[in-house]
Amino acid sequence: MTPHSSALVVGAGVSGLVCAYALRKAGVDTQIVEASDRPGGVIRSERRDGYLLELGPQSFAGTAPLRQLCRELGIESELLEAPRKAPRFVLVGGALREVPFSPLAFFASSLFSVGTKWSILRDAFGTSRPPEQDESIAAFVRRKFSAELLEKLVGPFVSGIYAGDPEQLSLRGAFPQLHEAEKSAGSVVRGMIWSAKTTKGAPQERPALLTFREGNETLTRALAKNLGDALRCGAEVIAIQRRTKGSVEGYEVCLSAAGRDETLEVDHLILATPTNAAAELLRQIGAGFENALQGISYAPVAVVSLGYRKNTVGNALDGFGFLVPRSAGLEILGSVWNSSLFPGRAPEEHALLTSFVGGTTNPQAVARSKEELSALAHRELAPLLDIKEAPVFSSVNIYQRAIPQYTLGHTDRLAALSALRTKYPGLWLTGNYLRSPAIGACVEQALAAAHAVSKGVSK
Ligand SMILES: Cc1cc2nc3c(=O)[nH]c(=O)nc-3n(C[C@H](O)[C@H](O)[C@H](O)COP(=O)(O)OP(=O)(O)OC[C@H]3O[C@@H](n4cnc5c(N)ncnc54)[C@H](O)[C@@H]3O)c2cc1C
Repeated sequence: MTPHSSALVVGAGVSGLVCAYALRKAGVDTQIVEASDRPGGVIRSERRDGYLLELGPQSFAGTAPLRQLCRELGIESELLEAPRKAPRFVLVGGALREVPFSPLAFFASSLFSVGTKWSILRDAFGTSRPPEQDESIAAFVRRKFSAELLEKLVGPFVSGIYAGDPEQLSLRGAFPQLHEAEKSAGSVVRGMIWSAKTTKGAPQERPALLTFREGNETLTRALAKNLGDALRCGAEVIAIQRRTKGSVEGYEVCLSAAGRDETLEVDHLILATPTNAAAELLRQIGAGFENALQGISYAPVAVVSLGYRKNTVGNALDGFGFLVPRSAGLEILGSVWNSSLFPGRAPEEHALLTSFVGGTTNPQAVARSKEELSALAHRELAPLLDIKEAPVFSSVNIYQRAIPQYTLGHTDRLAALSALRTKYPGLWLTGNYLRSPAIGACVEQALAAAHAVSKGVSK
């Protein structure tokens, strides 16, 4: 007889792990399978030569659901918070300039012209309406504020989050709160203030940036431990097909594990894979999915971590790190000063700096060898941070498909996907292409998916 499970989650990145965890917590008989030999997906922390490396995400925003999850998993005491006041820098005119975050600092800063400052006041006291059609982030910033704000601040931050191009990314896809603010209040500033005041239970300040004492992977390791035997690594889903037993619809899933094929029957199939893997599987049960999913491209990114003797770095590295506008002509998108943010990231008297290369504006950069990427990052960092000697440690990790791009038309693609999915009872999607790539958003999306599935199960 074919083995049966009420729910099967495919993919054990943070999205799949959280979804499986929440389903089991709700009492749903759930299995989770992962194609690679380890859980965690792109979240990966490694200790090497006294350095604690984050090969993927460097830190995450401590949203309320994420903190609650850490509490449930018994890892809350392992959380480390980056200094809230750590300055962030942006490279302007060849020098690192501190980014002003408070309104007072913004208006006092010499980073922006009077025209840009005036554009903020014009928005705060004026009224505007967003266009009906999807608008790129770049077009939005130019329409509402200024080309200077786009160039010096918004562009670098967009490449920091999405490794993406603001000319291609959709405002309502990537930053729906800004679109909604203008739509509801006629002003981005008023809309955002109003939304902060009215959001139930919303914290008054931005959530802190967090990691764990032993790295981000603490979260996915704890989830995997909690799941125990329900999680199988080295098991890739290679085929799916619908099956109907009486009035109950479900799926027959074919797995490849240790060179053998196995079949599993499930009532609920939750795909927590990147879009290319989801498209490949869903193509087998219906037309249309592939189109919507393949329309979501990913930015390639190389993560380059370099270790230096502190006494060879002239810059005090007092801050979060810096971002680079594309017009600066560098290939690094930005750099995070890991050892300034969290303890235990580098050996005594050493500094660990992680830079990002590539993104959608420079995809060919990741075709270089690891040695070339490491040399490139050092070459570009050295003059900016007054580094006098070569790094004593280097680690390079390349992702051909790192971060999903919420490009123009993204919300339409998601709507098409959602409409299609509802025609397949028991089929669910979760992952970083649905709400936001941020880990906190993946957690919330996965919890919401688990909630929807468990409601279906208890019917
Ligand atoms: C370089 C980089 C830097 C980042 N920086 C940050 C940051 O600083 N802060 C932040 O909040 N977020 C950051 N992110 C984003 C965040 O880490 C990701 O969006 C999130 O971890 C994605 O989790 P996921 O589970 O949705 O997908 P993934 O981690 O991609 O997991 C999907 C899993 O599905 C598995 N799979 C695929 N096909 C199959 C199959 N057929 N059968 C079984 N398993 C399958 C894969 O092997 C994989 O393990 C970064 C991401 C990258 C790559």
